[in-house]
Amino acid sequence: MEDRYEVADLVVERSRGLKVTFEDGYVADFDLMRLRLWCPCASCRSLGERGEDVWPRPGSPTPLSITDAALHGAWGLVITWNDGHSTGIYPFEQLRLWSERPPDQR
Ligand SMILES: [Zn+2]
Repeated sequence: MEDRYEVADLVVERSRGLKVTFEDGYVADFDLMRLRLWCPCASCRSLGERGEDVWPRPGSPTPLSITDAALHGAWGLVITWNDGHSTGIYPFEQLRLWSERPPDQR
């Protein structure tokens, strides 16, 4: 794997966001809302494709926060949100690409 997709350090701030430092020294910083809106799981993606809000959903707890985060093998991170949602796996390669070119304008 290339250094640019290898993670050197990972800091999860439950009420603020996620900071990922890659082996080549690049730092990617994400706020919670963006990460939640970009959740790569099938159900969030299909909501987005239907033009519905991925967050907040009816009855969603606010403010948004991270309950838990765990490595998924060597290549990704599973984030559990405070509404119990935890099916999204965030590949480090994808985080790097999102940071370099945010997918906000879709
Ligand atoms: Zn999701």
